[in-house]
Amino acid sequence: MTDCLFCKIIAGEIPTSKVYEDEFCYAFKDINPQAPVHILVIPKKHLASVDEIDCENSIYVSKIFQVIPSIAKNAGLLNGYRVVSNCGDDACQSVKHLHFHILGGRQLSGEMA
Ligand code: 5GP
Ligand code: ZN
Repeated sequence: MTDCLFCKIIAGEIPTSKVYEDEFCYAFKDINPQAPVHILVIPKKHLASVDEIDCENSIYVSKIFQVIPSIAKNAGLLNGYRVVSNCGDDACQSVKHLHFHILGGRQLSGEMA
């Protein structure tokens, strides 16, 4: 999608601090980190949110979750981390390209919402 911020990041049109990339996904540091480690992992296919995951495209989600453990370990998250995906307005999703936040590097709140 031409007007999607994260599609532009994948295309290299907007610079980021990349931490990982393969055929299916791209991972980079969040510009406004909410924890000492805050990484975003996005599929290289434009999907607006979790709501658009289906049988045809779920390979992207599967591949993302296969690499999240090594992305987390490489970022030094040896004592745990949180994976979050905000979906829709009630969850305050601000970028409408599916993404998974990896958060860690300190004791996180026990509150989820
Ligand atoms: P959401 O609120 O949609 O779950 O998360 C979107 C995330 O994207 C936010 O944490 C925000 O800081 C991050 N973000 C927005 N624009 C940019 C950008 O241009 N570069 C990077 N690295 N992160 C961004
Ligand atoms: Zn996109």
